[in-house]
Amino acid sequence: MITKKPYVITEIIKETPDVSLFKFKAQDGSTLSYDPGMFVMIHYRNPQTGEEIGRAFSLASKPDDAELEFAISMIHGRFTSHLDTANVGDVYYFSGPYGQFKYNPTENKKVLFVAGGTGVAPFLSMLRLIDEKKYDTDVKLIYSMRHPEEIIRKGELDSYKSTMKFDYVITVTRQETDADKSWQGEHGHVDAEMIKRHLNDTPERTCYVCGPLKFTKAVQDALTAIGVDKSRIKADVWGE
Ligand SMILES: Cc1cc2nc3c(=O)[nH]c(=O)nc-3n(C[C@H](O)[C@H](O)[C@H](O)COP(=O)(O)OP(=O)(O)OC[C@H]3O[C@@H](n4cnc5c(N)ncnc54)[C@H](O)[C@@H]3O)c2cc1C
Repeated sequence: MITKKPYVITEIIKETPDVSLFKFKAQDGSTLSYDPGMFVMIHYRNPQTGEEIGRAFSLASKPDDAELEFAISMIHGRFTSHLDTANVGDVYYFSGPYGQFKYNPTENKKVLFVAGGTGVAPFLSMLRLIDEKKYDTDVKLIYSMRHPEEIIRKGELDSYKSTMKFDYVITVTRQETDADKSWQGEHGHVDAEMIKRHLNDTPERTCYVCGPLKFTKAVQDALTAIGVDKSRIKADVWGE
């Protein structure tokens, strides 16, 4: 029997047109022990029928934060439709944490994070921890999204450029809006050529990839083509 604990929404921030940041705290005031990269199952319980629906969400907060934070894409599916109408004070039921997609500070001092859309959430947790603990880790982030307005926590990412060994590249995959066309950074899907344009030491890095199945598969293929050993590639796949 899985134990589920009630958590209360303490803050909702509309971060981008489709993504909201949700903060939760345990109703009984307890804290959750987890590593960056792990996820929890969040369950919505229908107050009338008692029926539950649960989905996995990666923790974007760092382990000792007072609240648990998540970056959630409002895709109007079965679960996110409920969350889209949620308010501060609403209760959801959590189980976990789960997962092996963990950043290990002693493993390798050079890492590459590759995020597809909201797949940046576990990397926020990792970056927050690396920054707080002042780990001597060299981090490069390649962050792919459809449109420039989808970038999550840009100010925070920019701030890490001066507080740690960190840099990021954003690639915009669509050419639809004026903002897409005038985007000054990278365009197109992440592939071996793009990675090589920005990094000449990829095989020395432990690589973490997070996003939808097609994205993670393409990035893993690109990394192995560049010469990264498969044992150095960790992937968190979020579905189709
Ligand atoms: C380990 C793990 C961690 C995850 N962490 C996060 C997270 O931090 N933030 C987050 O937003 N999501 C995350 N997800 C995805 C999340 O669990 C749900 O799948 C997502 O919120 C959709 O649930 P839903 O019930 O609203 O949609 P459903 O009713 O399950 O699906 C509706 C339709 O949307 C499609 N779909 C499902 N997921 C997506 C998607 N992400 N983008 C576009 N279309 C989709 C489905 O194929 C289906 O056609 C994670 C998934 C896993 C496995």
